Amino acid sequence: METTLILLKPDCVTKGHCGDVLQRFEKAGFRIRGCKMIRLGDKLLREHYAHIAAKPFFPEVETFMQSSPVIAVALEADGVIEKVRALLGPTDSKKAAPGTIRGDYGVDVMVNVVHASDSLDAAKVELIRFFKSDELF
Ligand code: ADP
Repeated sequence: METTLILLKPDCVTKGHCGDVLQRFEKAGFRIRGCKMIRLGDKLLREHYAHIAAKPFFPEVETFMQSSPVIAVALEADGVIEKVRALLGPTDSKKAAPGTIRGDYGVDVMVNVVHASDSLDAAKVELIRFFKSDELF
């Protein structure tokens, strides 16, 4: 069994797509192990997006990700990391097929509804970053 870290991004929260996105995950057979709404502080956001912190578009991503609280979710299933990313579609929502979460609700490469860990190693680090051990069930 794998567990992955999901963030329902500000566009997902403010446009009211959280219910549908979580329903898609549950219908796919993924189990919710943890769930909480949080505001992303500067330190947490910089840690989470360390791999893009030097990119010219990072300040815009920071503003977007802090524009409303996000919902962090820990999801468990066999092969969940790859399966979630398939349900999401590619990073750029404009390239995402209809029927994928980003294809249905995303706007562009930045405003793309959901973050999901991209590997088992990343998931382990990200889960510890966002959840205390007694917040996972
Ligand atoms: P993913 O979230 O699909 O794993 P990345 O880790 O490459 O993608 O990027 C992290 C986040 O940074 C993306 O989800 C998106 O919100 C934002 N982002 C990535 N590339 C760009 C870009 N070229 N312009 C603006 N924002 C971007």
